[in-house]
Amino acid sequence: MKTIKRVSTLQKYLKKERQKGRTIGFTPTMGALHEGHLELIRMGKNENDINVVSIFVNPTQFNQKEDLVKYPRKLEEDQKLIRSDCDYLFAPAVTQIYPKGLDTSVDLDVSHLSFSMEGPNRPGHFDGVVQVIYRFLNIIEPDRIYMGQKDFQQFSIVHYMLKEMNIPTKLRVCPTVREADGLAMSSRNLRLEPQIRKNANIIFTALSFAKDQLCTMKCTDIEEKAIKMMQIKDFRPEYFEIVDGFNMKRVTDPEQHDFIAACTACWAGRVRLIDNMILKGAEHI
Ligand code: AMP
Repeated sequence: MKTIKRVSTLQKYLKKERQKGRTIGFTPTMGALHEGHLELIRMGKNENDINVVSIFVNPTQFNQKEDLVKYPRKLEEDQKLIRSDCDYLFAPAVTQIYPKGLDTSVDLDVSHLSFSMEGPNRPGHFDGVVQVIYRFLNIIEPDRIYMGQKDFQQFSIVHYMLKEMNIPTKLRVCPTVREADGLAMSSRNLRLEPQIRKNANIIFTALSFAKDQLCTMKCTDIEEKAIKMMQIKDFRPEYFEIVDGFNMKRVTDPEQHDFIAACTACWAGRVRLIDNMILKGAEHI
C-alpha cells in the first residue's frame, strides 16, 4: 500500500493503472477506521483490480465546529488496519482538496432528498458531502464507489448525483456493521463515556421495535413510541422517522411502498449518533 498526500501524485499512479486496463474501486472515509469501514474496503478489494481508500476529514460537511475539531484522527493506526486490502491510501491535506482559486462547488439540487432528517438538522451537511464526493470522483474516476447503509440519506444523495450528472461510477452499498449489542459502528463511538456507551444499544432496540411493529401499528404511533424508548438518561432523540427509502417522504400506509426505512438521530451525551434499519424491501439497496 502506498500512502499518497498529493492529488497530482495519485493521478499519475492511477493513470498508469488505467492504461493497464485495471478497474478501480474507491472507498471514501474520514478515518478512525473500524470494522464497518473495513467491510467496505474489503468489498472494494474483492470487486476491483485496484483499491483506493481516502482518509479526509472534510471540513465542508461539518456544521458544528466542535465536531470537526474533536473528530478522531489516527492515520498511523488506520494505515496498519488496511494495508493488506488497499493499494493506494489517499490522505490529502485540506489545501489539496480545496486549493485556493479552484471552484469546487457543485451545481446540483438535492433538496428533494435532503429536506428531512439529517438535512434540516445539519444545515449545509449534504452540500459538503456532494462537494467532496464530486471532487474525489473527478480526481480518482473510479469504476465503483463504496458507501455504507449506515448513512442512508448520504448514499441516496450520492446515488442521485451519479445518475443526474451522468457519472459512470457505480455505487455499491454495504450493510451496516454493528457491535455485538447492536450499536452501529461509528468513529464517534470512541467519544462515548462508558456509562452512555453501555446504554447506547437503545437506538438499535428502537429500530428493531419499528421493524417488528410495521405491520401491526400505525407508523406515527411507532415513531412516537420509539422516541419515548430512546428518552433515557443522557439520551436525547432528535428524530425518528419511517420513510420511503426512495424519496425520504414519511410513510403512512406501508402497503403503498416497496422500500421503507426507519431512520433516527439521537444525542448520547455530547455525541450525536445516527442509525437506520430497512423495514421493507432490503433488495432495493
Ligand atoms: P465516515 O468515515 O464516517 O465518513 O464513513 C465512511 C463510510 O463508511 C461511509 O460510506 C459510511 O456510511 C460507512 N460506514 C460508517 N460506519 C459504518 C458501519 N457501521 N457499517 C457500514 N458502513 C459504515
